[in-house]
Amino acid sequence: MHELTLAMTIVDMVVEEAERSNAGTVQEIELEVGVLSGVNADALEFALSLAMRNTVLENAFVLIVQTKGSGRCNQCDRVFAMTEIWTTCPGCNMPAGEILSGDAMRIVSLVVNDQEEIDSFALK
Ligand SMILES: [Zn+2]
Repeated sequence: MHELTLAMTIVDMVVEEAERSNAGTVQEIELEVGVLSGVNADALEFALSLAMRNTVLENAFVLIVQTKGSGRCNQCDRVFAMTEIWTTCPGCNMPAGEILSGDAMRIVSLVVNDQEEIDSFALK
């Protein structure tokens, strides 16, 4: 299960970051998951609930925000919305030559201790 590996990576990164900032507990973690990233948000949320056990994230609230996908057509240069990796150009029906957004996932922010906020770090 791909999401479980990912969840464990996220937890490792957050634990490391929390140690670096001397955070006792993590209250909230906000993640951004692109619709084209291949990550299933529900599966990730479930995997996180398992991976977070017995860590400083144990009681953290998980917020997952899905970001929209877009791509640019190789043929006509049109920029179009993509809901799936194989969404084709509405003008010429060609696959996107370049994905512009929605293919990544990142940790947007953490809330640690009492409302102290640590800002974004990218996951890939
Ligand atoms: Zn096109």
